[in-house]
Amino acid sequence: MSLRGFLDMMERKGEVLHVREALSTRFEVSAVLEAFSQDGSILHFENIKGYDTEVIGNICGSRSRIHSALNVSDDRSLYERMIEAFRSPVKPRVVDDAAVMEVYEEPDLHKIPVLTHYEGDAGPYITSAIISARSPDGKVENVSIHRLLILDRQHLAIRLVPRHLYRLWTAAKKEGKDLDVAIAIGVHPAVSLAAASTAPFGISEFWIANKLLDNNLELIRCERVDAYAPADAELILEGRISAKKEVDEGPLVDITGTHDIRRKQPVIEVVGVMHRRDYIYQALLPGGCEHRLLMGLPREVMIYESVLKVVPDVKAVNLTVGGCGWLHAVISIEKQSEGDGKNALLAAFTGHPSLKHAVVVDSDIDIYDPRDVEWAIATRFQGGEDLIVIPNVRGSTLDPSANQNTGLTTKIGIDATRPLGVPKERFKRATIPSNRKVRELIRRLKSSS
Ligand code: MN
Repeated sequence: MSLRGFLDMMERKGEVLHVREALSTRFEVSAVLEAFSQDGSILHFENIKGYDTEVIGNICGSRSRIHSALNVSDDRSLYERMIEAFRSPVKPRVVDDAAVMEVYEEPDLHKIPVLTHYEGDAGPYITSAIISARSPDGKVENVSIHRLLILDRQHLAIRLVPRHLYRLWTAAKKEGKDLDVAIAIGVHPAVSLAAASTAPFGISEFWIANKLLDNNLELIRCERVDAYAPADAELILEGRISAKKEVDEGPLVDITGTHDIRRKQPVIEVVGVMHRRDYIYQALLPGGCEHRLLMGLPREVMIYESVLKVVPDVKAVNLTVGGCGWLHAVISIEKQSEGDGKNALLAAFTGHPSLKHAVVVDSDIDIYDPRDVEWAIATRFQGGEDLIVIPNVRGSTLDPSANQNTGLTTKIGIDATRPLGVPKERFKRATIPSNRKVRELIRRLKSSS
């Protein structure tokens, strides 16, 4: 249940592209990742200028690869699988020995091929790290993903959005203590997906990952810090988030593809490094497909679960590519009563608090096709009756048009479901009867043109 195991599986399916040209960590690797970021292959960079370590990227770059990683066939079974994991998380085993312990050394972050992704970024950023920490009393563990800016050989700046890790850090700070963290890089997609979701405070995302992996996740206890990390990781940094020291963090391109602003953020002192002898460094392109899917899919689950509580059936949920996999959702439902569409919209905003614009459509609409969604808005939506506008609510600070300090935004819900009082046929897309002869003719005409 390692990244390597998953890569072997993807290699056999022909989903890994090997890049043998020598490339720089500064813009060159990220430029190639960007070119493949729309449903593209996994990229294995075997020759990184100035480093012995190889780089892998775009691992979770398509929905179908994430399905394979979790052994499901489609999004709906993925949602059900994750909901099940949230309902019955299982504590992983702790082991004493692991491949990641092969090499244990003094920290030197400059030896790791960390990428500088975009023009205007503050510097090289680790973007795939799974960060785990425990409360001072050891009762609560949290696992989450945070961007980490390389400051020097031993220090990182961490962006701490006020969620669970921030809460643990604040608790340690109150006691005048730094917060110990394990920073794991190069893990199985199920671990990344679990770390990208938000379990209730008190439930470790490792337990969720373990459930997703059918109880096959193993952890190790770090040597120099009080934290646990996946035994199958490629690389683990042991660190402490300073209670006192803060530095400028950012700018960095985030999920919207725009630069997130610079803020004062805490410093991590790295005190130990362990890795497999031939470890692979896992890169993740900010704003790329993989970023959108890892952040977005767990939110689709929350929306799905939330909307399912208020309408009889939810067919599909899509945090759209154009909406950064974060700000725009399209939801298709089986409408039973008038008003179901609006209730679904309200539930969607509850399920994913960063959501800004949501569209609800009937189950005959393909929510992955933006033209089909627009067609539903064009033919089934009346602005005077079917629009919900909610000003001054908390949304995402990643949206440059939202208030960057307060996070306040305006949310809009579009109910593009058919009104039930009007005959269904009025809204049906017309079809032309065809036979085999005609279909065959069309096929020939198309292939000759
Ligand atoms: Mn959490």
